Amino acid sequence: MLKLDFHPSGRHFLQIPGPSPVPDRILRAMSLPTIDHRGPEFGALGLELLGKIRKVFKTESPVMIYPASGTGAWEAALANTLSPGDRVLMFETGHFASLWYAMARRLQLEPEFIGLPGYEGWRHGVQAEMIEARLREDADHAIKAVCVVHNETSTGATSDIAAVRRAMDAAGHPALLLVDTISGLASADYRHDEWGVDVTISGSQKGLMLPPGISFNAISEKAIAASRESTMPRSFWAWDEILEANQNGYWPYTPSTNLLYGLNESLDMLLEEGLDHVFARHQRWAAGVRTAVEAWGLEIQCLEPAVYSPVLTGVVMPEGIDADAVRKIIYERFDLSLGTGLGKAKGRMFRIGHLGDCNDLTLIATLGGCEAGMKLAGVPLAGSGVTAALDYFAQHPLDAK
Ligand SMILES: *Cc1c(COP(=O)(O)O)cnc(C)c1O
Repeated sequence: MLKLDFHPSGRHFLQIPGPSPVPDRILRAMSLPTIDHRGPEFGALGLELLGKIRKVFKTESPVMIYPASGTGAWEAALANTLSPGDRVLMFETGHFASLWYAMARRLQLEPEFIGLPGYEGWRHGVQAEMIEARLREDADHAIKAVCVVHNETSTGATSDIAAVRRAMDAAGHPALLLVDTISGLASADYRHDEWGVDVTISGSQKGLMLPPGISFNAISEKAIAASRESTMPRSFWAWDEILEANQNGYWPYTPSTNLLYGLNESLDMLLEEGLDHVFARHQRWAAGVRTAVEAWGLEIQCLEPAVYSPVLTGVVMPEGIDADAVRKIIYERFDLSLGTGLGKAKGRMFRIGHLGDCNDLTLIATLGGCEAGMKLAGVPLAGSGVTAALDYFAQHPLDAK
């Protein structure tokens, strides 16, 4: 067995914005024996899951479940709906948007990346009016899909997808709308049908509170129709065979049985609590964490309050301080993992995840680790973020009447 002797006693603080801490209830559900994935019990589980998962995406349409990371589901979305050489409009919100763009190029699509100039895009959400303007120029409808990231995990901006839909409609453009909510689903409000999304991509290890290993495509009628025309080679990702097997609760290949037990438990937990309550809980945690950052006198990566992420907060380090050196101290001294700055944000900031199996006091402890670690690293702080967040949580009970 792998010796994890670098972990002292007590729980490790996994405060990265995914994988998120997994609740014990889900871990226990996953520990049941693996069953025959072609047997009757499995078919019943499959049908139950395929029904319940739609509620979380807020869709009446089918949801594909892949035994793959979120990146696989990105590929599935592009490969099922598009053909080599197709033009795709993508918006640069940060590192994950950039990785999806790079994938589109590898798949021989012709992606066009638009965004705010310089580093600005990495501190804001999607600018729907820029998408509208670009689509209006595309009079002969060469652009086949618009791809945006809902919750940009590298920066902490949750874009307004309804505004993107309105922009596409205002331009009268027929492109498909593909949305990555790998880290937004089940933490931030998301509405596949109402927002007219054609393919929604998500993953297990963020808001769904599962370990990594499964991912999703929620697909519209229009997306299914596009998949019948698309000529991109695909086999493992192909929707048609999965849709057929799913009718009876099965998959064309061996699914991740134990992760599906976990998913079933996760969906029960989320639906028992009520999605609106789940979203309010994350909004409140995010507000508490931002109160702490403000008390420290530090900047938040996202500069647009309307799109502050409920899932994570990016904390910008003052000039001349390497954010990764601060993270290293926090990890080594307090057994607390924070998200690193990715891509263009490398070394400039760290990210605090506030999703998964958290509560007020685990977040206070997380902020305590950040505060003590920043002091050790010589980061000048204006005041105590821990005290400010404690006061915030005390004064803003979640279920205030
Ligand atoms: C985590 C994440 C991904 C990548 O998912 P993997 O499971 O690591 O492949 C893509 N997009 C966003 C927004 C993410 O948060």
